[in-house]
Amino acid sequence: MSSSSLKLVLVSTPIGHLGSGRGGGVELTICSLLKGLISLGHDLTLVTPAGSLLPNECSEIQIKEFSGLDQPSWQHCDPNCSASIPFQGVLPKLWEEALEIGSHADAVLNFSYDWLPLWLTPRVDSRLFHLISMGNVSSIMKSVITDIADFDQNRLAFHTYRQAADFSLVGKPVVVGNGFDLDEYEFQESSNGPLGWAGRISREKGLEDAVSVAAALETRLLVWGFMEDIEYAKEIEESVPLGTIEWRGFLPTSDFQKQLGICSALINTPKWNEAYGNVVVEAMACGVPVVAYDRGGPGEIINSGITGLLVPPDDVKALTLAASRVKELNRRSCRRWVEQFASKEIFASRVDSWIKSVLDPKM
Ligand code: UDP
Repeated sequence: MSSSSLKLVLVSTPIGHLGSGRGGGVELTICSLLKGLISLGHDLTLVTPAGSLLPNECSEIQIKEFSGLDQPSWQHCDPNCSASIPFQGVLPKLWEEALEIGSHADAVLNFSYDWLPLWLTPRVDSRLFHLISMGNVSSIMKSVITDIADFDQNRLAFHTYRQAADFSLVGKPVVVGNGFDLDEYEFQESSNGPLGWAGRISREKGLEDAVSVAAALETRLLVWGFMEDIEYAKEIEESVPLGTIEWRGFLPTSDFQKQLGICSALINTPKWNEAYGNVVVEAMACGVPVVAYDRGGPGEIINSGITGLLVPPDDVKALTLAASRVKELNRRSCRRWVEQFASKEIFASRVDSWIKSVLDPKM
């Protein structure tokens, strides 16, 4: 191991095991980052809910698994709700272990958007770092993030500037973007396919607007994602002609990217300040341009006119017009953007620099 390698403990989301889909985009973020950090030669331990599925490349890292109930997800709580931990919840088990092994590590990297690990930060010897995975959805979370920014803002990193702007920070935020294993995404040249939409099937994702676009253009919309809200899915289905939506389920990345790559465009319709939007970049990695609302991470990531088209938030007419124009875009430019700015290697090196800049401020 080189002298610049670190002993790092990564703590997974307490919502679902890796591969379950319940944790959303953070699951893929953790897997890509593990692969990138392994290639940088770091000594890694992952603390994660039991049953987590990890890429083959991770066979040599140490894995500590714990069973317990999921945390409730903050985006579905009332904005003023309290922080709560269910009886026999997995979160305290993950953190008991993380603090134990973290006291002998260089740093502990937290991926859970949760009150407990943030609150612990100034109160423990282990050096805790947090990759914040959502924008502001709750007063208590905003307040604890503000407290950590006052304590040492460099312990926090964000996926995009637009996400970071949701919080009261004392200085310029550390923004690390996100990373993808490009070997897993095949570039597809043809732009004659149907429209696609991907994400958790949940109200903050705005699937109904993408469905309206497909109905207006009289084309099919292929839909992939973890089914979080079946009532919402039924409401949407009833609002458009039969056959407009083609539900494809929640697939492993290898199948997901193969099907996604045939699309003429991905429609991305966030109704909230999406922190990043993994599916946007996964589509681009396959050569699929993205038509999206100019809101949150997608609004920052998409280079309108090159890798996709951005329209004013919630303007379904503009979204429809943009979806009818995607053939003007060069699919190779989409893939090239991901290679330049969002590979797993680039992401891991940004995270590596962030942590080292705090551990050794002279660097
Ligand atoms: N996803 C998947 N299979 C599917 C559809 C989606 O694995 O069939 C994954 C996708 O790779 C992405 C995640 O679901 O990592 C959705 O993450 P995103 O950042 O777009 O939104 P979030 O759920 O975090 O709000």
